Amino acid sequence: MDIGNSTTEACVAAIDPDGTVHYLGTDLTHTTGVKGTPDNTAGALTAVRGALHRAGRRAGEVTTVLLNEATPVISGLAMETITETIITESTMIGHNPTTPGGTGLGVGTTVSIDDLAEQEPGSPVVCVVPHGWDFDDTATAVDRAVGRGVDVVAAVLAGDDAVLVTNRLTVPIPVVDEVAAVEKVPLGMLAAVEVAAPGRTIRTLSNSYGLATVFGLDPDQTRHVSPVARALTGNRSAVVVRTPSGDVTDRRIPVGELVLRGAGKSLRVDVDAGADAIMETLARVQPLDDAHGEPGTHVGGMLAQVRDTMADTMADGAADLVEVSDIAIRDVLAVDTFVPAEVRGGLAGEVALENAVALAAMVRTSRSRMQLVADLVSDGLGTATAIGGIEGEMAVSGALTTPGVDRPVAVLDLGGGSTDAALLTREGECSAVHVAGAGELVTKLIDSELALGDREVAEAVKRYPLAKVESFFHIRHEDGTVQFFDEPLPPQVFARVVVLTSDGPVPVPTRHALDHVRRVRREAKRRVFVVNAVRALRQVAPGANLRALDFVVLLGGSALDFEIPDMIADALAGSGIVCGTGNVLGTEGPRNAVASGLVRAYAADSVAAVPDAPAPGLAG
Ligand code: ADP
Ligand code: MG
Repeated sequence: MDIGNSTTEACVAAIDPDGTVHYLGTDLTHTTGVKGTPDNTAGALTAVRGALHRAGRRAGEVTTVLLNEATPVISGLAMETITETIITESTMIGHNPTTPGGTGLGVGTTVSIDDLAEQEPGSPVVCVVPHGWDFDDTATAVDRAVGRGVDVVAAVLAGDDAVLVTNRLTVPIPVVDEVAAVEKVPLGMLAAVEVAAPGRTIRTLSNSYGLATVFGLDPDQTRHVSPVARALTGNRSAVVVRTPSGDVTDRRIPVGELVLRGAGKSLRVDVDAGADAIMETLARVQPLDDAHGEPGTHVGGMLAQVRDTMADTMADGAADLVEVSDIAIRDVLAVDTFVPAEVRGGLAGEVALENAVALAAMVRTSRSRMQLVADLVSDGLGTATAIGGIEGEMAVSGALTTPGVDRPVAVLDLGGGSTDAALLTREGECSAVHVAGAGELVTKLIDSELALGDREVAEAVKRYPLAKVESFFHIRHEDGTVQFFDEPLPPQVFARVVVLTSDGPVPVPTRHALDHVRRVRREAKRRVFVVNAVRALRQVAPGANLRALDFVVLLGGSALDFEIPDMIADALAGSGIVCGTGNVLGTEGPRNAVASGLVRAYAADSVAAVPDAPAPGLAG
């Protein structure tokens, strides 16, 4: 059996005296607890019993259970924003209510609707409507003022009534609603309100020179308001109020320095310099011995947190404590990402995309506690157990059962926490590496970039293709093709972006268009798996040269993904590599490689122990 970070896999085999292996059944289940800890026992027993059941055998028939020598690598994830958008004073920026009213641009002085009756005709007016005004009264008050010759050019509402108000006006104007903090809108100031037609985005307020034109700004002032224009890009509606001292700033948050130690050097890199700078520095200290963050900074906290959880979980159930100092960070993957965050000082819950850095860290402890798991499995099943060979070697051995694969072969095990590479040369020498970052990081990036706030939804967005439900009887797939249905689709998916799960379409709770969700999904996969595939293969390839590799077999849960294997194959095609998803035993797909490999190694050993026996064959 193979106990992984996410999945525990088992396979049952019978071995003839001549070493021929007959595979009888396989099974897999979620790993219980942290890999390499006693909590794994429950999942391990479930997987073994499942495989026995599918093989039609009883536990009493089992001679021995082989367990993987779990490389004590565990991964942790942390994310920190490195920019923050702040609005000072009362400049109000972008706001994107679902249903603004009217269309066009209105520029005028802000006047409360309470004072509209006293307003003299003359200069244009933007009417500000506080909480408590209903749509009928609002429309009547505006119409009356317009009748007296007051030039009301736009309105800003607290409630969600923009469409109801515009429908009742004699002269239609752009109306922006759902401005929660409407009482903070400064009165007597010049303001611009823009609403685009349905399906369009604003043109003037999202353009720095548009803002300069509307407010008569000089080049210096224009430079100051450019973050406003950027924050408004892509909105259907917006309000900008010009206040004498108002300002929007893009502040960079000092996240701290990452200290990377390895190859006899110790290098420092500012985390807010971004992922590329971090990865470049990392490449200069390979192999990494340990990584630290400056104490008292965000990055210090990020890494300390990873280390502490690891110390706790590794110590869980053991008499002796694992010292935090025992735990060394052996690899780091940094990824640039962004997080939609509410703007500080905003009036209507405005959201800006803040830059962030995600760090996946891989931790190696000085001890593996697999023996404890082995003893507990032994108690549970009443059989002997043995801890088998090194995971990487076993994975290669299992991968060799894929039809069409030959030595020399490299495998890429795309798991949940780490991406592992191993190479088996023609001569039978094996080397293996682990790099931080895999499926869990992809899920986390999707979750935060789409602001889903729900890991399960993010996992579904990762795993299933998207579609748009265009009517009750048809959907448009993300590749543009249309599919029709005989039965009406459930009403809750109508007009929604959905993921096509095996149980049918499930809506994605987002206001983003399908294309955006798709781009976020694919970028997250590319930034983690294409980067890591190349990084890991370089470390095992002779002379760090990818061209020296012939066959690459993709294994692990993330090799089941509907696009990750293609992305990796594309990236490797230039180096003349044959790359594809494994099909272990010709039936298991990318699953069960390590467990099958353990059986093959055991069979080879048992024959080697008997003199003059023929070389092990493979059957079943
Ligand atoms: P480990 O070896 O670390 O236990 P696995 O090989 O089981 O991990 O891989 C777990 C990862 O595979 C998770 O991130 C999970 O989201 C991903 N995964 C599993 N099935 C699929 C699938 N059908 N499509 C995409 N990703 C998948
Ligand atoms: Mg695995």
